[in-house]
Amino acid sequence: MLTERIHRAIRTTKRHQEKLEDLGIKTLKDLFFYFPRAYEDLSQFSKVSEIRTDCKNVLKGKVTNLSKRRARTGKLLISGIFSDNTGSVEVIWFNQPYILEVLNPNEEIILSGKASFDFNRITLKNPDFEKVKENLIHTARIVPIYHESPPITSKWVREKIALTKSYLDFLEEYMPEEILERQKLINFKKAIKSIHFPSSKDLIIKSRERLAFDELFLIQLIALQKRWQWMKNYSENELNISISEDFLNEFKNKLPFTLTNAQQKVIDEVFIDLQKKYPMLRLLQGDVGSGKTAVAAAAAYAVYKNGLQTAIMAPTEILAKQHFNSLTEIFGFFDVKMDLLVGSLSEKNKKNIAEKIKNGQIDIIIGTHALIQEYVHFKNLGLAVIDEQHRFGVKQRDILKSHGTPHLLNMTATPIPRTLALTLYGDQDISIIDEMPKGRKNIITRIVPEHKRRDAYFWIEDQVKKGRQVFVICPLVDESDYLEVKSATQEYEKLSREIFQNLKVGLVHGKLKADEKDKAMNDFKEKKIEVLVSTSVVEVGIDVPNATIMMIEGAERFGLSQLHQFRGRVGRGEHQSYCFLFPTNSSIESLKRLKALEENHSGFKLAEIDLEQRGPGEIYGINQSGIPDLKMASLSDFELIKRARNEAIKIISQDPTLDKYVSLKGKLNEFINDYNVSICP
Ligand code: ADP
Ligand code: MG
Repeated sequence: MLTERIHRAIRTTKRHQEKLEDLGIKTLKDLFFYFPRAYEDLSQFSKVSEIRTDCKNVLKGKVTNLSKRRARTGKLLISGIFSDNTGSVEVIWFNQPYILEVLNPNEEIILSGKASFDFNRITLKNPDFEKVKENLIHTARIVPIYHESPPITSKWVREKIALTKSYLDFLEEYMPEEILERQKLINFKKAIKSIHFPSSKDLIIKSRERLAFDELFLIQLIALQKRWQWMKNYSENELNISISEDFLNEFKNKLPFTLTNAQQKVIDEVFIDLQKKYPMLRLLQGDVGSGKTAVAAAAAYAVYKNGLQTAIMAPTEILAKQHFNSLTEIFGFFDVKMDLLVGSLSEKNKKNIAEKIKNGQIDIIIGTHALIQEYVHFKNLGLAVIDEQHRFGVKQRDILKSHGTPHLLNMTATPIPRTLALTLYGDQDISIIDEMPKGRKNIITRIVPEHKRRDAYFWIEDQVKKGRQVFVICPLVDESDYLEVKSATQEYEKLSREIFQNLKVGLVHGKLKADEKDKAMNDFKEKKIEVLVSTSVVEVGIDVPNATIMMIEGAERFGLSQLHQFRGRVGRGEHQSYCFLFPTNSSIESLKRLKALEENHSGFKLAEIDLEQRGPGEIYGINQSGIPDLKMASLSDFELIKRARNEAIKIISQDPTLDKYVSLKGKLNEFINDYNVSICP
């Protein structure tokens, strides 16, 4: 019954119907899931003698003396006198001639509206009204207010939902009784009913809580089912890793630096996972420069010691090469055999390396997507490390997993507050490096107002003459690749022809071919380019220790987390580094936001501020992650996320396929279909 198309259940115009389709509302159920955005409490009546001008008045009485006239402005005015047993007041409607027809002077009505006090008298202007009957919809209750999207108005939605109210009885409970009890949640039917027809404010709160809980709970069920699948897929004998005490010491002794406590802690977590009988599924989060590579190296070494292979996959060639170089530095002392497999190698070279991978002549293979081409077969892949995992599509990540059932370590430099991570990456264990290697200097960050721009350019030129290098990031342009490339090209022309005529300026953007991009990056690395202009899409986690200045144009258009990522590209060498933010608009709001960057140097702290200010959708590209738009729950409601997760864990650990929970299973499938949900890793 609930899947009845709306136009069959109620009368509606074609225009309304089309708009509903746009809003994704096709069936009655969809309509019931169109939740109010707010409420207005019109449940308390007052009397004409008590009318106030500072809030809405809800009055019961009759309207008489209705008449129609044109105002000087040309507006059509309907006016009348509204009276109850305490007095009378003038009431006016603008441009609503039908009122003359519907209002009958002998009939009692309910009016609700604001009163204004002009020319020494009180007038009610454009009040809502409703004839007194048993079930009042728009007045005399707590009235829901819906998002309006013409011709769909709140009034329209209220009327249609009231009309189809009896269908609400077809809603069935699917949540296991025990959860409702433990979580003190109200029944599903009651929650949906009360969201549209609340009998008290308290009930609105309870209904919202129930419906928000459900969304988060279903997301957690999906994530935990995935995790269960993952653990089920392993084959017992394949991974049989053991790690001895002195092994880590041996590794640490060879490292060119001392591990930070945070690195040490994460390595411990990873080692515990590696020795379990099912494969690891772990997300390692750590700010840019926090030293995630060393963790990957430790894990790779442990796996190597057990005679298994490791694959490390990075999103770009330049990053893959960088990893190759730093790992060569670390493993130079051991007999680990390493190689690099990237797309730009000759076919012959690629085949050759693939052959060695197959024969087990390579222990650690580092590369790009080239690693997951069909011709690559591992002899015995024990560990897959995916750097900047969000840059890979879900499929690409899955392929690497499908080479046997290796341990999987995902790494990301995009910090996500912990509880949000539980939702986005609910199927993975999470490790965090929350500490920078000792001796790192904070990057001095400044907002540069337009009148200081020239001074900044002089200063930067001076720095370059002293041997430093500069990144220039161009603003996001309406998410349009084309415009962005254009603005970067213009910036490049301006800088190379006018501002930094004496410096070597280069350009890199997303429309360049991979090898052109790599060439520009390499030229920058080798100092053939001193000032590199780049679009924001070219996210190069590149290591150029000599680059000490990051200039960001249109800075207010980026989120704090992203700005922080850009900033992380400098400050990798011995010299003090700087980040200059050039806002294009200097509204207090955006300056305040950028100020947070001047003051904070932890990616996690900034992510939290970002989350508070902009909500999660914007920041983490929630859509790409496969998390649906939530109607009720907020991804910032950490308390509720934890509650939902705990309950989901209880259910999945007893009955991972939900065979004992038939209606819940049905609801879950419905949810997955409705929202087309797929969740990371
Ligand atoms: P990211 O987390 O961004 O991948 P990297 O692993 O590339 O960071 O490390 C950044 C730099 O810091 C590298 O040059 C690395 O050699 C260095 N590094 C990593 N760990 C430490 C440490 N504990 N002490 C000093 N330097 C370190
Ligand atoms: Mg890295």
